[in-house]
Parts: sequence; C-alpha cells; structure tokens
Amino acid sequence: MFETLKEQPADKILMLMQAFKEDPREQKIDLGVGVYKDASGNTPIMRAIKTAEQQLWQAETTKSYTGLAGDPAFGDAMIRLVLGDAVPRANVAAAAQPGGTGAVRQGFDLIRQANPGARVFVSDPTWPNHLSILKHMGIEMVPYRYFDDDTRGVAFDAMLEDIGQARKGDVVLLHGCCHNPTGANLNITQWKEVVASLQKTGATPMIDIAYQGFGDGLEDDAAATRLIASSLPECLIAASCSKNFGIYRERTGILMAVSQDAGAQKLNQGTLNYLNRQNFSFPPDHGARLVTMILNDDALRADWQAEVEDMRKLMLTLREQLASELQRLSGSDRFGFIAQHRGMFSRLGATPEQVEKMRVDHGIYMVGDSRLNIAGLNKTSVPILAQAIVDAGV
Ligand code: PMP
Repeated sequence: MFETLKEQPADKILMLMQAFKEDPREQKIDLGVGVYKDASGNTPIMRAIKTAEQQLWQAETTKSYTGLAGDPAFGDAMIRLVLGDAVPRANVAAAAQPGGTGAVRQGFDLIRQANPGARVFVSDPTWPNHLSILKHMGIEMVPYRYFDDDTRGVAFDAMLEDIGQARKGDVVLLHGCCHNPTGANLNITQWKEVVASLQKTGATPMIDIAYQGFGDGLEDDAAATRLIASSLPECLIAASCSKNFGIYRERTGILMAVSQDAGAQKLNQGTLNYLNRQNFSFPPDHGARLVTMILNDDALRADWQAEVEDMRKLMLTLREQLASELQRLSGSDRFGFIAQHRGMFSRLGATPEQVEKMRVDHGIYMVGDSRLNIAGLNKTSVPILAQAIVDAGV
C-alpha cells in the first residue's frame, strides 16, 4: 500500500546544509541553519550542561519512566524561567515535549482538541515548520502581515489590522522574542496594543518562544510572554531549550497552558497528559533533567546565565560590525536595521537572485528568503559578507 505515498518536499534548510557541505571552496560561509556558533564556528556544549551531565552520571540511579508530563520539577523550573511571577503557578498546566517543535505540534493538537474549527493566525513570514505542521494537521491558517520590506521592521499597523480579524475560538500565533526568520520584533508598547486587540476579539494567543536570552536578555525576552499571560484569560506557550541551553539534539521543550483558575488548570493538565500519552507517552528526559539541575542550582545557573549573556553579546557585536561595514561600503544607512534586529536571524530583504549570486560568487549560504544566521559570522567573514551584499546590489 505504500506505493500510494507521495514524494514530500525536501526541507529547504537541510538542502542548503547539504549544498554547503559539498561546496569545495575554503572561504565559504554558512549562514543557513539556525544553530548558534562561536567565534571559531563551533556549536559548543555549554559549560553548565557539561557539569550537570557529569553530576547526573554520578547521581542518577534509574532510567525508569518519569510522569506523562515529564518530571514535575522541569515544569516548575521552566514556568519560572519563562513566566517569572507573572501568573500564579496554580494557573499553569505544563507538559515536557520533544523540543520546541514538539511543543508547537502538541499546542496545535490541544487547539484542535478544544476547537476543531479553530483557525490559526500566523505571521507572514514565520518559521516554515509552523506552516507545514498546520498543513499536515489540516488546521486552517490565516497569514497576518508582519514584515515591512522597505524598513525591514515590523509592519505594525498592518499586523494589528490583520490580527483584528481573528474571532473567539481562533488562535493568534506570536513569536515571544527574536522573530524567526526576520529578526524584527515588537516593542513593549506595541505588545500592549496586541494584548488590547486580543482582549477585543477574544482570540487565544499562542506564543512560540525559542530564543529566550538571545535578544535583549533572559528577562527582557520574556516580557511580552509575561504581559500576555498576565493580561488575557488564557494562552498557550511553546518554549524550546534547544538554543539557550545548546541542547539541540536532546529534544527539550515544554508546552504551557495558562488559565484563570485551578479548575481550568486541572482540565488543561489532564488534556496535556492525555495528548502526550497518545503521541509518545513519556517525553524525553535527559535534556529536561539537565535544564532543571541548572535552573535549580545557584552556581550552575550563574554560569549558564553568564554564558548565554556572552553568546547574546557576541551576536550583538556581529550585528553592529556588519551594519557599520555596510554603511562604510554603501555610503548609506539603509542597513541600520541589522543592528536593530534581535536574535539569531535577520532578513536581509534580498531577492532570490541576489541570494543566489552571493552563493555562486562568494560561497555565502543563506536561506532563499535572505534570512541570515548572524551567529554563523565572525570577524573575518563580516567584511566578506558586507562586500558580497553590496556587490549583489541589495
Ligand atoms: N520555534 C521557532 C520559531 C524556532 O525557530 C525553532 C527552532 N528552529 C523552534 C520553535 C523549535 O526548535 P527545536 O524543536 O529544535 O527545539
């Protein structure tokens, strides 16, 4: 029967990774896949993770099953990290998931369970997996305008107009910080307007937060999520630990459902447990356990925070270097947005032909929509990229 299967489209970013690998040029630059890289181009295991792994190896006495929602201590620690004290702990249901992707997928499953007719409003553009998972699940999606091609900032009025079309029973999917793929983000005043819109329409927000700590710092990056969680009757939060703990392959994430009271929380928790059971029973534990150990230990936590802060600052420095090199070469301020953007990515606003030209002429690999991974740069490659951008006529 499997002969009936259809060929699925290949993942564009994974194809790009492959093409990069096969490029024999020594000076090639990989700005494609979204993993953090240090100044030497490595994706390091963070110090606190290494220490926690050593401690865990010594202390762990069983690999027996945890709970359906994962270890409750992971839930507690992550709720604190993401939500601080914005909402009472008793109002939050949470379940560990295989990565942020698992959390997003499970969030959509919860939405479908609650309202099979729900439409999910997605930013245009958004992380492509949002779209492909929604399509796979047969959930209707409605794009909302987000990126202003001229300023390379947020097209905020257009966004507000579009999300204002959502109704009660619909979901508005938002990036908590460090928007992927654009790098353009709302300021807190704009977030307040988004809250007012959601209050007016009664639509439910779902926040995808995959880069906490990579934008303006761990606390500032959670501000929008906290504002939404504390201002609206309910919301969903899908958080990933892949980036800010550097544990991509451990598949560590969490889905939270925030409600107004303990009764709703109980129902949400029961449904989250149920959904985990239907999909994979128990979520992966290793990464979640390391994260819990780090967040609950003063010394490990301080070391982790310091390292996340170093990573964040390195990306900011690269942004500033690239923006100023572009200003020097182009004699204009039109690339200033690169220093304004936050997180690992910036959408350059180049055409597919210009992106292709940079690949052919300079061995620079970025996603076809001209998303570049800032962490893929270093002091040496910044001037090469800047020259290529100017040469391509961006
Ligand atoms: N959401 C967004 C917006 C992302 O960019 C990513 C990572 N590319 C994720 C979720 C999930 O990442 P992971 O499944 O690796 O934790």
